[in-house]
Amino acid sequence: MSASARRPPAADDSQKDDSQRRQKEMIARHFDRLAAAPETGEKCAYTFVPGNLTELLLSFDILPVLPEINALQSAMRGKSAEYIAVAERLGHSEDVCTYVKSDIGMLRSGNVGPTGQRLPKPDVLLLSYTGCFTFMKWFELLREEYACPVVMLHVPYQSDGRITDAMRRYVVAQLREKVIPALESATGRAYDEDRLKEHLTRSAEAEDDLVWVLQSAKNVPSPIDAYFGAVYYLGPIFSSFRGTGDAVAYYRTLRAEIAERVRLGKGPVTPDGDGGEERFRVVVEGPPNWTSFRQLWKMFSDEGAVAVASTYAKVGGVYDLGFRHDPSRPLESLAEYCLGCYTNLSLPTRIDLLSRYISEYRADGFLINSIKSCNSFSAGQLHILREVEARSATPGGFFESDLVDPRYFSAANIKNRLESYFQMLGQKRAGRAR
Ligand code: SF4
Repeated sequence: MSASARRPPAADDSQKDDSQRRQKEMIARHFDRLAAAPETGEKCAYTFVPGNLTELLLSFDILPVLPEINALQSAMRGKSAEYIAVAERLGHSEDVCTYVKSDIGMLRSGNVGPTGQRLPKPDVLLLSYTGCFTFMKWFELLREEYACPVVMLHVPYQSDGRITDAMRRYVVAQLREKVIPALESATGRAYDEDRLKEHLTRSAEAEDDLVWVLQSAKNVPSPIDAYFGAVYYLGPIFSSFRGTGDAVAYYRTLRAEIAERVRLGKGPVTPDGDGGEERFRVVVEGPPNWTSFRQLWKMFSDEGAVAVASTYAKVGGVYDLGFRHDPSRPLESLAEYCLGCYTNLSLPTRIDLLSRYISEYRADGFLINSIKSCNSFSAGQLHILREVEARSATPGGFFESDLVDPRYFSAANIKNRLESYFQMLGQKRAGRAR
């Protein structure tokens, strides 16, 4: 669930930061390897972002393919409408998650990925089930398309807002008894825990730097936009690179670049380059819209609104609450990662998290982007809105769009809603100053 293969805001390579160039090269190499996999014999697994087991896959030299990321990148390339139409002609209803329909449409249109290269068929479908029922139905559909083994890791929902020993043991047992044997069988290689530990060590290092970058938004002005801009920063760690030396180098470079912005007192990069005055600091809940990503971002940046924290930036791991992959407890640590994913958190936990962000990041308000086709995020968001408003004494705003279906992005309505909201924040501030 990141936009990693898309270009960050800079217009051409000469304007890009080192981190952007580095990420672009990493992605190009990854997709080259995937495209060549049928000839080279490299194995690949299709798997989801939340609860991904990237380090374990890498320890078997398996290349991950993330269908959600392919879907969002299809949207940013203007391809998702046509893919969704293909899926709907096949009988998928209008209400189905549009990531699924975009993926199925892409698959039926030649399975050409975000870099224009054909994706290989999976050698294994690895389903980490973390809170969203759609994940399961999605892989049932893929199972019909490919003659490969399917392995499911069932992750218990955090209904009480905590991870118990029994939950951890249950996930570890599945890793040992189901997932690892399936990967051994798919690759013909034995599980190598020392290799897994090496990858986990690198993950923790990159996670430290990512958290530093996200928390740099506590500065005034914030040097980053933690919703739109963060999408680019999350690419490597949410996708195929967590646990690699490339990811460590990327986050080290990014951290240095953001530290320099802090030193210079600069705000975030926006679609128009360096941002102007920071007028409003907001926390955002819900995934972004990908078909009109820059247009929506501009609706914020034109108002001087900067997202200082977002829950979407935690969808591949809530690292800022302290979790790190831990090489001294490899499988336990993977289990805790899966259990702690944002999609696996209860409504009260999400309300706590949003309220905490508003306070810690000194936000003026919070906005919910309610995604039509993502029940996992959207169910309960009106309740979240009321609770967070009451708890934080901070005004919330609500608008609706979709992930990758352009039919559900109504620019005029959203702009109107956002302008009214920011106007209201401005009036409140003026009232306090009188
Ligand atoms: S419903 Fe939401 S969380 Fe579930 S697969 Fe679709 S986008 Fe992801």
